[in-house]
Amino acid sequence: MVSAKIYYDSDADLNLLKDKTIVFLGFGNQGAAQAQNLRDAGIPNEKILVANRPDHYAEDAKSKGFTIENDFAKAAAVADIVFLLIPDQVQPRVFNGDFAPNLKADATIVVASGYNVFYKLLNFKPTQDVVMVAPRMIGSSVRSLYEKGKGFPCFVSVEQDGSSKALPTALALSRAIGATKAGAIASSAREETAMDLFAEQALWPNIIKLFTEAFSILQEAGCSDEALCYEMWMSKEPAEIFERAAEEGFITQLKHHSSVSQYGQLSGALKLDGTAIRAHFKDILYNQVLNGKFCEEFSKIEADLEKEGDENPLNQLYTKSGETELGQAEKRVRERLSQLL
Ligand code: NDP
Repeated sequence: MVSAKIYYDSDADLNLLKDKTIVFLGFGNQGAAQAQNLRDAGIPNEKILVANRPDHYAEDAKSKGFTIENDFAKAAAVADIVFLLIPDQVQPRVFNGDFAPNLKADATIVVASGYNVFYKLLNFKPTQDVVMVAPRMIGSSVRSLYEKGKGFPCFVSVEQDGSSKALPTALALSRAIGATKAGAIASSAREETAMDLFAEQALWPNIIKLFTEAFSILQEAGCSDEALCYEMWMSKEPAEIFERAAEEGFITQLKHHSSVSQYGQLSGALKLDGTAIRAHFKDILYNQVLNGKFCEEFSKIEADLEKEGDENPLNQLYTKSGETELGQAEKRVRERLSQLL
C-alpha cells in the first residue's frame, strides 16, 4: 500500500516566481487555461510570453492580452521557466529542435504529462530542473474551476533537480495555476505514464471489446439496434453511473439501482474469475507500457498521423472499428434519428 503526499497552497511560495520570465510553449487546451490562471494568481503579464506559430492559437492568446513570440528560439532564450504545452507527439521534434538548444542552463521545464520524460525523448541539460505539473482535467475545467475559486486534481513531481530547488519551484507553479487549492498529489512521470497508458491500452480496449461483444450477442438474440444503442450508452446511463461513482463511491453508487440490478451486478462480479484478465493486464503493463514497446511502435507511425484519408493509421483504425456490428448499427440509428430532427 502506497500513500501519496498531498501538497496544498500553504506548502507553496509564489514569491519564488518573482522576476521569472515564464514562457508557455503552446496555447491550446492546457496552455490557454494555465497561462490565464497563472496571470490571475498575480504573475505580471509582462513576465509571461506565449510561444506559438502565427495562427488562431496565437490570435486567441493575443486577444486575451498575452505577448506572443513566433520565433521559438527567441522565446527559449528568455525563458526562466517554460511550460511545455503542445501535444505529446510533437514535443520531441519541436522542443529538441528549436527550443532546447537555446534554453538557459538553469531553466525550469514544466511538463503536463509524463510520457516524453519517462521515455527520455526530450533533451535536457543536467543543470536544468524538470518538473511535472499534470492536471487531471481538461483545460476548460482547469480554467473554469479556477474562476470559481475551486481547485482541480493534479499530479506534481520533480524529474530532474538541477538546482536542488526544483520541488519548491514545482509547488509554486502548481499553486500559480490553481493546482494546490484542492491538493496536488505527489507522483512521478513513471507513475503518470503507467496509469495513463494502462488505462488507454488495457482498461478501455477491454471496455470497448466488452461493449462490442455484448452488442453482438444481444443483437443475435433479437434485440433491435435502437433498443441496444439506448440501453447501452445513448441514454447516457453509463455516464451517470461514473459520475455517481466519482461522487459517492465506485461500488456505493449501486445503491441507486434496483435490487435486481444490485444483486445481479455484485454477485455477477464476485463470481467472475479474474485470473486471465489479471495476466493480460500485467502483460500490457510490463511488456508494452513500462518496457517502452508501445512508445517505440507509436514513434514509427507518428509522422503518418498528419496524412489524409486511408494513409493515416488512425483513420484506418476508425474504419475497421466502424465495421463491427455495434459500429454499423449505431450508424443506422444515428442516420434515422437525424432524419427525424
Ligand atoms: P493541444 O492539442 O491543445 O495543443 C495545442 C497547442 O500546441 C497550440 O498552441 C498549437 O499551436 C501547438 N502545436 C501543435 N502542434 C504544434 C507543432 N507541430 N509545433 C508547434 N506547436 C504546435 O494540447 P493539450 O493542451 O491537449 O496538451 C498539452 C499537454 O498537456 C500535453 O502534454 C498533454 O498530455 C497535457 N495534458 C492535456 C490534457 C488535456 O485535457 N488535453 C489534460 C492534462 C494534461 P499551433 O498549432 O498553432 O502550432
